[in-house]
Amino acid sequence: MLKNFDTDSRCFFTQRKDYQNNITNVNIINDDWLGFCMLKDPESMEGLIYFTRQMIKSGNAVAWVRKALCPKCKTQMGKPVEKGKIKIRAKEYTCPKCNYSESAEEHLKKLNAEIKYKCPHCSANGETTIPFMRKKIRILSEEDNKEILVEALQFQCDKCKEKINITKKMKG
Ligand SMILES: [Zn+2]
Ligand SMILES: [Zn+2]
Repeated sequence: MLKNFDTDSRCFFTQRKDYQNNITNVNIINDDWLGFCMLKDPESMEGLIYFTRQMIKSGNAVAWVRKALCPKCKTQMGKPVEKGKIKIRAKEYTCPKCNYSESAEEHLKKLNAEIKYKCPHCSANGETTIPFMRKKIRILSEEDNKEILVEALQFQCDKCKEKINITKKMKG
């Protein structure tokens, strides 16, 4: 049984022995209790490095990735900025305050995608948090009815366990 611990914090706690399902979205854990925090919608695009809203057949998904904090001074890190312009193609992420920098590869590994969805298979609404790592998958292209390779953030519907893909938009 879930009990509402604190409506403002959007977090729920349940005793571990009461909870048998696959555990997703668990933020706070000790030996007896599990905590679940509902996703908080992003306040602005500025704190995000990625945002997408997609229709997926009869369902849909909104996904976002928050900027990570600099391990040295806790400022939001991003692509380097030069003369007011973001260097989109830079291969590193830097802290605008103390100039700490790390490779994109290292930086992206630490990030999570937060996702709210309506499942295209069972129509359930849900939310989940997964590592921000795209997989290459084959999907059937709706235009010419053949299999194409796309990159996607893939996750499982909490209710029906079917896979849901948020695909990266391809050019042309
Ligand atoms: Zn810093
Ligand atoms: Zn489902």
